[in-house]
Amino acid sequence: MSKLIKILLIYTGGTIGMIKDSKTGALRAFNFDKLLSRIPELNLLDCNISTISFKTPIDSSDMNTYYYGELVDIIANNYHNYDGFVVLSGSDTMAYTSSVISFMLENLSKPIIFTGSQLPIGDLRTDAKENLITAIQIASFYKDNIPVVPEVALYFEYQLYRANRTTKINAEHFEAFNSLNYPPLAKSGVHLNFNFDAIMPYNKKELVVRKNLDTNIAILKIFPGITATTVASILNIKNIKGIIIETFGSGNAPTAAWFIDLLKKAIKKGIYIVNVTQCSGGSVNLGQYESSSQMKNIGVIDGKDITTEAAVAKFFYLLGAQIPKKEFKLIFETSLRGEIS
Ligand code: ASP
Repeated sequence: MSKLIKILLIYTGGTIGMIKDSKTGALRAFNFDKLLSRIPELNLLDCNISTISFKTPIDSSDMNTYYYGELVDIIANNYHNYDGFVVLSGSDTMAYTSSVISFMLENLSKPIIFTGSQLPIGDLRTDAKENLITAIQIASFYKDNIPVVPEVALYFEYQLYRANRTTKINAEHFEAFNSLNYPPLAKSGVHLNFNFDAIMPYNKKELVVRKNLDTNIAILKIFPGITATTVASILNIKNIKGIIIETFGSGNAPTAAWFIDLLKKAIKKGIYIVNVTQCSGGSVNLGQYESSSQMKNIGVIDGKDITTEAAVAKFFYLLGAQIPKKEFKLIFETSLRGEIS
């Protein structure tokens, strides 16, 4: 008889873990120790589920490096005792959190499935139950003793995505996430259909936990008519080490001399600048147009088809890892966790 798969369910906070107080109507945190009795369907799953919760569950808007550390510690301390992990989090910053976790855990060989919901688990019309049950099923899916999804993924409304490819696209629909530059890893319908070619291959290496994160970065979203004063004030932020410029289309920005001059000065000072498109899908293609070839010439990093969320996470990780200056650009432009095509 095959051994029963062990899943650790980690609650960090967010709508999914809330129930409506029947008297006041207010949302309050759900007691996860009582999870199995509140959701009897979980008993039908062919796995053993343990639960653990953040000491103080948070709204995901409050996520920061402290909580990334808390989450990674929970996973790392339990890594060898469980076959898979399901992380319940608020959806607002789930694309960021799951992207950061993908960088913090190198050589991952077990499933870490993030999920949440738009409606609380105790709500009559909740999307929480399906998201939770299927996320657990995915995390416990093993074939010949090898996990089918040995990577950080995000499950929401019948689709499983590579986490560091996702963006929250809707504040209200159950279909809250999308991954426009990478196909879903699985789709859930009558059957759970995995897209095996898209899933990260299994590796047998030892897990390496990267806890050093550096958040001294900023995002500069370009818009028509942006002034030199605005651009300069962002580039001159004290202690800033990295800037993501969200550009037009395939990586374009104003061709005005002042714009390139400001970027050039910043790069000379040692600030890394990454070009990421503000389009939800598609890729930066530095040099395709005159307006981006100047950026290419001065050493702007090509974000290619990375999402802004994954670029933020990659910056935290690479700045924290203190990569030597001359290697930084090349490493940023290389896919480390499947975040770039
Ligand atoms: N504000 C909530 C959060 O992100 C929304 C949600 O749970 O989806 O924590």
